[in-house]
Amino acid sequence: VKSTRKLSRRSLLLAGASLTVVGCAKQNGMLTSRPRPLWPTVIPAPQPPHTVSLPPVREPVYQHYSSDVASSHTYAPAPAPPPQQVPSNGVQFVPRHAWTRVSPIRARLNNMGGVNRITVHHEGWKAVWFDNWADTAERLRLIQKFHMGDSRGWGDIGYHYIIDRDGRIIEGRPLHFQGAHVKANNENNIGVMVLGNFDKQTPSLKQLSSVQIAVSQLMKRHRVPLGRVYTHQEINPTSCPGSNLQPTMVALRRNGHLG
Ligand SMILES: [Zn+2]
Repeated sequence: VKSTRKLSRRSLLLAGASLTVVGCAKQNGMLTSRPRPLWPTVIPAPQPPHTVSLPPVREPVYQHYSSDVASSHTYAPAPAPPPQQVPSNGVQFVPRHAWTRVSPIRARLNNMGGVNRITVHHEGWKAVWFDNWADTAERLRLIQKFHMGDSRGWGDIGYHYIIDRDGRIIEGRPLHFQGAHVKANNENNIGVMVLGNFDKQTPSLKQLSSVQIAVSQLMKRHRVPLGRVYTHQEINPTSCPGSNLQPTMVALRRNGHLG
């Protein structure tokens, strides 16, 4: 009886092995005939768990926060580069004070009063190939100056978060202020800008990964459903966020990589 059992076990094992081989061969055949994905190949793999933590929304204390701030605000060089909050996945969150000393002009700003949507943009100016902090901070100050200057006259840089070429997630306009990034649709709308012009270049993989992380965290924190995550061109007629980022944003949403 013993030997029969041994034999039958062995023959079962052998049968199993041959089945496995047949199975693999079949699977391989199916794989090669499978249609290619419909969306671009630049989608970053989902990175659970998301370990970057955006700081809690709080009332900031601005040193020069008064009605005369408009006349006194100057474009002083920003303080030293920020090595703050580098989590294990390498994504760095950079607070606002690391790149600007210019206070928001409260008289020109509305309170956000809650968040129920998120809109993704590109900068849309010159292509951006630099990823070092000094050039990035300089560019942010330039955008802020433009937004606060005569041509726009806003109370601060228009976006709440900026994602630079190195994937840093940088705080822009404090979140308790309404942004200025989608004409006539800024209410309760977080503005996330990806630095660069994606009609002229493609976003870096680090940028795409950080877009995914930042938007997902903001969705969770503010309970924004996927259907309320937009790109600029989905709200207003514009090419923003560019022909090289728009399809990726659509794919990130459609394939469950956000939230
Ligand atoms: Zn835009």
